[in-house]
Amino acid sequence: MNLNPIYAKMGTTIFEHMSALCRDGSRINLGQGFPDDSGPPVLIEAAARALRERSNQYPPSAGVPELRDTVADWYGATQGLALTRDNVIVTSGATEAITAAILAVIAPGDEVLLFAPAYDAYAPLVRRAGGVPVFVALQPPQWHYERPEIEAKITPRTRAIILNDPLNPTGTVASDAELAMLANLCVTHDLFAICDEVWEAVRFDGQPHRSLLSYPCMAERAVKIGSAGKIFGVTGWKIGWLCAAPDVARVLARAHQFITFTTPPALQYAVAEGLAMPELIAERRDSWAATRAVLNRALSEQGFAVLPNAATWFSCIDLPASGINLSDADFAERAVVDARVASIPVSALCEDNPVTTVLRLCHCKPEAMLVEAVKRLARFRDSLA
Ligand code: GLN
Repeated sequence: MNLNPIYAKMGTTIFEHMSALCRDGSRINLGQGFPDDSGPPVLIEAAARALRERSNQYPPSAGVPELRDTVADWYGATQGLALTRDNVIVTSGATEAITAAILAVIAPGDEVLLFAPAYDAYAPLVRRAGGVPVFVALQPPQWHYERPEIEAKITPRTRAIILNDPLNPTGTVASDAELAMLANLCVTHDLFAICDEVWEAVRFDGQPHRSLLSYPCMAERAVKIGSAGKIFGVTGWKIGWLCAAPDVARVLARAHQFITFTTPPALQYAVAEGLAMPELIAERRDSWAATRAVLNRALSEQGFAVLPNAATWFSCIDLPASGINLSDADFAERAVVDARVASIPVSALCEDNPVTTVLRLCHCKPEAMLVEAVKRLARFRDSLA
């Protein structure tokens, strides 16, 4: 069989690889990012009610109006964006939104700037759309965006950038100056920006999130992607959305209509209820601020060097500065077997010239689990000496 080599040569994702090793319950999973609880009861009740009382037939392809309206309102209230339902298309998770955006924006031969480390889906999707991923490597500990390095990679074929801010896996947030610079680059070089902002509500720096979409002249050349999975900690729901100028959103909706067409209505209604509960969103964020503090403290107490982070469910450690001379991939593969703790080596999220000294750990877990995991990792590190 002549299967598409993009997929035929591909392994399973690092997230699935690590989670698969943990599914029998024998290991602590600080690899793939998801909370240990099963989600806010009020949201689950809303979904159950919608399943019982509302239609379970195809909702509109663009999403139920209740959710499109609430997404627009929520961005108005929290980020000062003036959106209406015409700006919003509901998708089956942010990964589907990213897929739709890439398929709708990228034509064969187009180059797409990606920053490394990057979410592992971007480059294969760009390739499947016929595009060419071009990587700009970010460097620890700050993972800053540097204009000369980015501009050096721009050619007449460059069509788009994909920006993930706040950034997974590093947990860092671009500064206002960096975002303004990136917006200016997009305008100067006529680039479209695919903005993966799924971590926008999981910020611990007290700053309001600002989208690249909101910078001057970006409204017509950007799509902003969000995720209920991250806002509420219900990663299995796969409710995401994309927001763009109505003319752009209409085209993105054409890509979405031939990927999943639509998204389970009960979950959409429940998310619409949740977005109208700012106290619930704040409570989730505060609980993750607390788990982050627990993990970072436990790591520091055991002599691990925690890199600066301000967002996401992840903290990263610098391995050499933590007394570990193995590469991140070797450490992660050995730790999941010997210490029975799963983690994510950041090099798995860099296709070329990977940073091999940084390990990602997920913090949205119970305190006792985090403390035990760090103890095990410390014991394992000490056994290597
Ligand atoms: N976003 C999740 C993470 O970074 C992974 C999602 C996935 O497994 N595809 O852990």
